[in-house]
Amino acid sequence: MTDHRLCQRLWRSLAVATCLWLAGFVGTASADWYRFSDTAMTTPVELEFWAEDKALAERAGAEVMAVFHQVDEQMSRYREDSEVSRLNQNAASGPVAVSDSLFEVLEKAREVSNLSDGAFDITFGSVGYLYDFRAGKKPSDEELRSGLPRVNFRDVILDQDAQTVEYGQAGIRVDLGGIAKGYAVDLGIERLASLGIRHARLSAGGDMRLLGDKRGRPWYVGIRDPRSEGRNAVVLPLEDVAVSTSGDYERFFVDEAGDRVHHILSPATGKSVQGVQSVTIIGEDALTTDGLSTAVFVLGPEKGLAMIERLPGIDVVVIDDQRMMHVSEGLVPPESD
Ligand code: ADP
Ligand code: MG
Repeated sequence: MTDHRLCQRLWRSLAVATCLWLAGFVGTASADWYRFSDTAMTTPVELEFWAEDKALAERAGAEVMAVFHQVDEQMSRYREDSEVSRLNQNAASGPVAVSDSLFEVLEKAREVSNLSDGAFDITFGSVGYLYDFRAGKKPSDEELRSGLPRVNFRDVILDQDAQTVEYGQAGIRVDLGGIAKGYAVDLGIERLASLGIRHARLSAGGDMRLLGDKRGRPWYVGIRDPRSEGRNAVVLPLEDVAVSTSGDYERFFVDEAGDRVHHILSPATGKSVQGVQSVTIIGEDALTTDGLSTAVFVLGPEKGLAMIERLPGIDVVVIDDQRMMHVSEGLVPPESD
């Protein structure tokens, strides 16, 4: 064999070995937990999932974050060109055709309003817009009196066949802040599942959904102490569920009288609901748990628990203003005797 041919063969086997080594390296290094975070819908979005390869993980991360920006553009009341803002501008003059996704969210909102006897009401926005929690601004009693007649979910008239929405009176402002994040979380999880991901945790502020388990063990979800950031009141081992928490600590200020003015409002009075510090709902999908967590917050521990006990597959943890914890039947440990 000439030196030249020997050299060629040597190079070839070296190249093959290098390729095999690289393939092995990439193969094991890229099956891993991946984490992505972003800000959308005025809240931090956190995503963690297991993927078999890096390219898929990058794609999944980008697609999920794109979902949040898309729902934000569609459902934000802060954006003048959102579908919700266009609805608020036009629906009092006649039926407005809306997208499938907005219609789905509006139907769920109506369902939660009916279940909670109007404690959950997206037309709270007719007075909600008078608050600015960052600036420490709240409406006067006079302003509330004039706005409250326009808080009534029955005035959001949905026509399922035509997929249109009409408002029953002028001046109604729908605000989906209590339900749209849950919808986006569900869409994000659906996107991950369609890409073949089987283990994930996706959260947007207080709304979270778990896909599968954490590869052989449960996800541990903390319900934070409402008066101490970084401390958990309780930690629950969970998998394949949605978990939403509504708290009076998310957006609030303390007024001149020393009262906590926060972002969950009673549709009856237009004022911040007292008596509860946080509500956590566990259920199948985040659209439902998001709406229900706000609803139970408004209803309070007694009526809220009674409503949840009537709903199969839904559980609740309420922390009241005395820091007492109330839990639904499904979370009570079985008596050991
Ligand atoms: P977050 O995850 O932003 O804390 P929650 O699910 O706790 O949201 O809901 C609070 C938001 O719900 C408020 O910021 C407001 O947009 C909206 N909201 C407040 N009161 C009500 C109500 N009575 N019915 C429906 N939505 C409400
Ligand atoms: Mg909610």
